[in-house]
Amino acid sequence: MTAPASGAILLTTAIEAVPGVKAAHARAFRRLGIPAVAHLLRHLPARHELEAEETTIDQLKPGEIITARGEVTDTRVAGRYGKQRFEAVLIDHTGRLDLVWFNGGFLRKQITPGMRLRVQGRSRQYGANLQIANPIWERIDAAVEEPGRRSRRLRPVYPASEDLPSRTIEQTIEKILDDALALIDDHLPPDFRAERELPELREAYRMIHRPGSDEEVREARRRLVFDELLLLQLGVQMKRAHLRRALEAPPLRWSEQIDKKIRGRLPFTLTKGQEEAIGEIVADLRKPTPATRLIQGDVGSGKTVVALYAMLMAVASQRQAALMAPTELLAEQHFLTITELLHGSDVRLALLTGSMAPPDRESVHRAIEAGDIDIVVGTHALLSESVRFHALGVAVIDEQHRFGVHQRAGLRGKAGVGESGKPLAPHTLVMTATPIPRTLALTVFGDLDVSTIHGLPPGRTPVKTRAVGFDKTDEVYDYVRTRLDAGEQAYVVVPTIEEGAGGLRDVRSTVKRLEEGAFAGKRVAGLHGQLKRATREQIMGRFRAGLIDALVATTVIEVGVDVPNASVMVIEHAERFGLAQLHQLRGRVGRGSKKSLCVLIGEAKTSDAEARMKAVASTSDGFKLAEKDLELRGPGEMLGSKQSGLAPFRVAEFPRDIDLLLMARRDAAKWIERSPALEAPEETLLRKRLLKEHGETLGLADVA
Ligand code: ADP
Ligand code: MG
Repeated sequence: MTAPASGAILLTTAIEAVPGVKAAHARAFRRLGIPAVAHLLRHLPARHELEAEETTIDQLKPGEIITARGEVTDTRVAGRYGKQRFEAVLIDHTGRLDLVWFNGGFLRKQITPGMRLRVQGRSRQYGANLQIANPIWERIDAAVEEPGRRSRRLRPVYPASEDLPSRTIEQTIEKILDDALALIDDHLPPDFRAERELPELREAYRMIHRPGSDEEVREARRRLVFDELLLLQLGVQMKRAHLRRALEAPPLRWSEQIDKKIRGRLPFTLTKGQEEAIGEIVADLRKPTPATRLIQGDVGSGKTVVALYAMLMAVASQRQAALMAPTELLAEQHFLTITELLHGSDVRLALLTGSMAPPDRESVHRAIEAGDIDIVVGTHALLSESVRFHALGVAVIDEQHRFGVHQRAGLRGKAGVGESGKPLAPHTLVMTATPIPRTLALTVFGDLDVSTIHGLPPGRTPVKTRAVGFDKTDEVYDYVRTRLDAGEQAYVVVPTIEEGAGGLRDVRSTVKRLEEGAFAGKRVAGLHGQLKRATREQIMGRFRAGLIDALVATTVIEVGVDVPNASVMVIEHAERFGLAQLHQLRGRVGRGSKKSLCVLIGEAKTSDAEARMKAVASTSDGFKLAEKDLELRGPGEMLGSKQSGLAPFRVAEFPRDIDLLLMARRDAAKWIERSPALEAPEETLLRKRLLKEHGETLGLADVA
């Protein structure tokens, strides 16, 4: 097949019109998401394989992957219809090689005697001759053949499908590549590229599809990854710059007196990590632009008081504050904590959850609207249309990974209109206890500033973690019993509430089993999300007061529950929980001065499950685990692309491409500062590509 005349191919040329693409293949291309030439070009190899070294036929050894070339002297179709195999004999000046393709009857029209082929595959001894079954093959054009060429080629391996092998994709791309490359314009200015030692876009595509060396593959990837990350960061920063221009926030007051008063409420000295975060937050809240800051810290690092500090700053400025938690249990817990800390002050608090009786809920709504409530703690019930704040100054969202960006926006729009007539937005703080690797947070929450609380409050003893099989269950509970006898308390986490689901341990029967067995004579209670709020509160209250020895629960206790005397945790069916989840659960113990223990009971059925359990047992550092999680699952899954609202990456891979991400972020920030809407003539192409890629997901329509 010869290349089409230059100019015949456009980036918009439909796949059907690409020379050599048959109708069936065209359909398969479309199913792979490749309707036109541009998509072919962007269909990047998953990896590259170094071809086996080419040798003469007499040098080939059975059992090895080999590459050889020669002339076809004979072909035949054998076997019955439907199961036909195609056989060919290939010879060079040193010997003979047999080729066989099973189900290869269709090849009879493509491979004919006299033709020269280059073949590749694993050879085997078959009768007197060497044979390759189902070799990869290509026809060598005698005129093009370089007789002396024996160099090994890096061959792209493309994401393929059953009806469209990588080989076919490779051949198709090869056909359009030169024409298509000529049509590519670079959206990055030459000096910008030169400074960062990035190859030209055209050259990058050439090198990824038709690399001359490993080095070229690396260089090409570097450019394409950078492009992907830069476009995303530009989009995110553009949006952010727009929000800053369009929205106003109430600047909050701060003075040493206010600071002293707030600190006076805290029963402990803040850690260095907390101080740093508070410093950053205070600076944010004093500005008339809405803060959007992610506060991340490991489980138990003390995020709540940091949030409380911000909320009290709002109150000191005659503004309201809201704290939104992902579950009722957590909202209740926060409400309780804050109520205790503010005991005796004149700050007016309210709790708002979906399970409250309608009249109670409505009276809270009215109080919020009238400005009779200073701080409201609640669940997503806070997002309801009927919640209208009198003057919302600070919105805190706990456990970000459970809320999507849209919900963040929901609270954002609840502060009324400012004096200038611009919509007034509250300052927003987002707390997450699933430490998101810093770099990933930058990408996905690129519109947020990030404060990280390093370190834990003093007096914590690290939690010892053990992973054991189900056969050790009795032993584990016998040991836990001795700890209960010593006056400590324990959590037992099981995956389900009721018996049934696939023989998994459940809350009800586990309570019974323990009460009657290992924990006989101890006070055991069950806790799960189907209980009424009042019951749940009562049980948590009793557990906190030491009136319950062992609490058997589902993952409702995953976040926020804070009982320092509880020092032992058993997680049954640990293999069924995610890495972050196990770490969260474990974070419920190790909150006091007692030596804490976490036992993971389970039998890993997959290597991933095993890797998760091992990772959790090996470190108690949430940030290290998050990196591990990222490796095991990839960023899309880790955050859920639904939550992040962003498509998974096409080329970039984490943690591998972290340096490029940081570079892209820095560059994007500078760029948008200089040119907020990318409106310069030389930015036209960049802007077009940005809008095409992220315009919709980031809602840039009204920005750019
Ligand atoms: P998380 O970051 O997991 O939300 P919390 O805010 O629930 O952590 O805090 C965990 C526990 O540590 C709480 O009991 C809290 O009162 C306590 N705590 C927070 N900050 C400090 C501190 N600086 N010194 C001692 N204890 C602290
Ligand atoms: Mg918390």
